[in-house]
Amino acid sequence: MKDKLELNYKVSLICALTYSVKLSNCKYMSKKKQNKSGSGKTRRLHFPNDEKEHPWLKLLIDSYYVVDKGVAGAISIKEKNGINLACREGCSTCCHTHKDIPLYPLELKGIAWYAAEKIKGTVRAILKNQLAGFKRNHSCPFLIKGSCSIHQLRPMACRQFNVFGTPCSEGEDPYYSRREDVMNPVKKHVDQAFFIMLSFHGIEKESDRIKIINDGSIHKMVKELHACKWNHLANKMEKADTK
Ligand code: SF4
Ligand code: SF4
Repeated sequence: MKDKLELNYKVSLICALTYSVKLSNCKYMSKKKQNKSGSGKTRRLHFPNDEKEHPWLKLLIDSYYVVDKGVAGAISIKEKNGINLACREGCSTCCHTHKDIPLYPLELKGIAWYAAEKIKGTVRAILKNQLAGFKRNHSCPFLIKGSCSIHQLRPMACRQFNVFGTPCSEGEDPYYSRREDVMNPVKKHVDQAFFIMLSFHGIEKESDRIKIINDGSIHKMVKELHACKWNHLANKMEKADTK
């Protein structure tokens, strides 16, 4: 129960309390708005052939692009105020300590696709082993030698979990030890990402999507990364490799 409560709490944070947002201002489909809100440094991922083959992938990548722009903007504001990001390459305490990472269905599909189709060689072999033997109390199964093996398609929660000041010490979860150093999600961007993702669920009408986001029902879809049956993905990868 404690885990569930904590998950809900984090999901609430990640979703930045969407209940009162005016999504009618978001207008994801408006090119003008998209261009205006872009951060110069943030690049959208591109898998042109795969996006043509899998329309859902385009939705996911568009969603992540919106979230990444929000994160880049928030970091930039902090840095202008002299507060530096502690997170850096090779820093992975959070991937060991976090056991309640929220994952939305489209994200799960994206991870499964990326692991099966894009990860090759030694990393693939290690990942298959980790996924096959994964237990809920383990560190994230996608962490390999201190790096995220699905970095490009890592979940929204991981994209947004950023810490300022001092890097996390071993075993520390700054969400509880120093909440003030943990970046707040950028509500407008997170809601825009959800708005895009809802198309994956066949919800096309703008007013329906806004309602689902505003009344919080979007969070009923959430899963926990550590609760997923990753051995199924390991089997899928193995089958593909022995074809
Ligand atoms: S959240 Fe903490 S452990 Fe994770 S990358 Fe940032 S500083 Fe490192
Ligand atoms: S998905 Fe990647 S970034 Fe997220 S916890 Fe796992 S290894 Fe870390």
